[in-house]
Amino acid sequence: FVKHWDKIGVQISRLTNLMNDVLILGRTEANKMPFNPEPVDLVAFIMRFIEQNYLSLEDGRTVMLSVEGSRRNVGLDENLFSHILGNAISNALKYSKGRPNPEVKVHYEEDSYTITIKDYGIGIPKKEQANLFESFFRAQNTSGIEGTGLGLVIMKQFVKMHQGTIKIESIEGKGTSVIIRFPYQLN
Ligand code: ATP
Ligand code: MG
Repeated sequence: FVKHWDKIGVQISRLTNLMNDVLILGRTEANKMPFNPEPVDLVAFIMRFIEQNYLSLEDGRTVMLSVEGSRRNVGLDENLFSHILGNAISNALKYSKGRPNPEVKVHYEEDSYTITIKDYGIGIPKKEQANLFESFFRAQNTSGIEGTGLGLVIMKQFVKMHQGTIKIESIEGKGTSVIIRFPYQLN
């Protein structure tokens, strides 16, 4: 009996997530998504984010963080940035079950900084890599792994609002790196 409630709960949260993503996308495309960048200690923010969301995962894995360059405050909208980070890290984890921990790397460079989310998972077939930013697109090797195919579309919009760029490098069967670059100076 308890089992059924469990399953119903899972379905409800699945549906809630899907609705949230559709609403977020609609709001973004209508230019109604609030954007309030503020100075943020990125490394502290990511550490907190990992602690709050990915510390005690059922499979005992976690997310590793490393930093290169000198730490400084950057202009970010914390709400939008949480979505960016959340989808990238959840992807890294769910597409690499049973493999080593995903890694997040922050690299402070001269005029811009990058955040790389790297995993050692199933990767993305080369011929499908061009379609990743289409709504509802899911690569063929994802059967049996849950998802809607909206996460990357939302991420890309939010990265663009921060005047950033997003690039994905992947080798099927080996792993994936999502590289997000933001300028320090927002115009
Ligand atoms: P959701 O809408 O819940 O995020 P999703 O994870 O399937 O669903 P996206 O995050 O938009 O959707 O990713 C789109 C597709 O890109 C995925 O279905 C998968 O095929 C591929 N992909 C994205 N990140 C990874 C990754 N780290 N490793 C392997 N494939 C990935
Ligand atoms: Mg996703």
